[in-house]
Amino acid sequence: MFCRGTAQRHMKTIAIVPAAGAGERMGSSRKKPYLLLNHRPLLYYSLAALDNIPSIAQIIVAVSPGEEQLCQQEVTEKFPFKKSIQIIPGGKSRQESVCRLLERVPDDARQVLIHDGARPLITPELIKQAIAETMVWKATVLAVPVKDTIKSANDTLQIEKTFSREQLWAIQTPQTFESSVIREAHQRARQEDFSGTDDAALVERMGVRVKIIMGAYDNIKITTAEDLIVAEALLKSRKSETAEIAESAER
Ligand code: C5P
Repeated sequence: MFCRGTAQRHMKTIAIVPAAGAGERMGSSRKKPYLLLNHRPLLYYSLAALDNIPSIAQIIVAVSPGEEQLCQQEVTEKFPFKKSIQIIPGGKSRQESVCRLLERVPDDARQVLIHDGARPLITPELIKQAIAETMVWKATVLAVPVKDTIKSANDTLQIEKTFSREQLWAIQTPQTFESSVIREAHQRARQEDFSGTDDAALVERMGVRVKIIMGAYDNIKITTAEDLIVAEALLKSRKSETAEIAESAER
């Protein structure tokens, strides 16, 4: 597989959404993107937030291979999205899914915004901010300062190091990049057999500075069944635009 070459410079943002994880830690027979959160599939919320941003020209989502039709039935055709949403099969790892998504990004895209399908509480305001800041910085990530003290430990759980909390950030998505930057980062990672747990790590290793944008503590990633309960409570308790989108889609 190959991440395509240099993009031309246009004011066009393409949103790509990796949602092809196995979701094993959810402990549910139903696949994560289709688990219901306030009566709507989890994946719906990320797509609805992105659908609400005028400067996003297109949304491409990667789901587990063989689930493309299921995603269409349960999500993209079931709700009235305004934008074109393309569904493609993802890869074995998140990085591979993103690489496959990048192959579908049109050459004239200026920016690529990557948002995990497992973060349903993202707001349109933060997405807009990420797009605006990436005009200046080429590479941005949402993040929040860590609240806990972070330590590293060895295999026998003995602590080896305590990190200074002041400089530690918990990294979220969206992560937004000038399209040529992220294409090259994935291409190089592939050639050099490097794997990272986020896209920014691939860009950092090329020496490109990545700028942090203050994210939100409620922009949680749904990994376990408890996260779903928290997300439901958060959705109910706030009058976010994400919730408003959900309501307006119902009408
Ligand atoms: O589990 P992890 O934190 O890596 O998942 C982050 C996001 O990446 C999730 O939205 C998940 O669906 C996606 N992913 C993917 N393809 C994989 C593994 C994870 O698109 N093979």
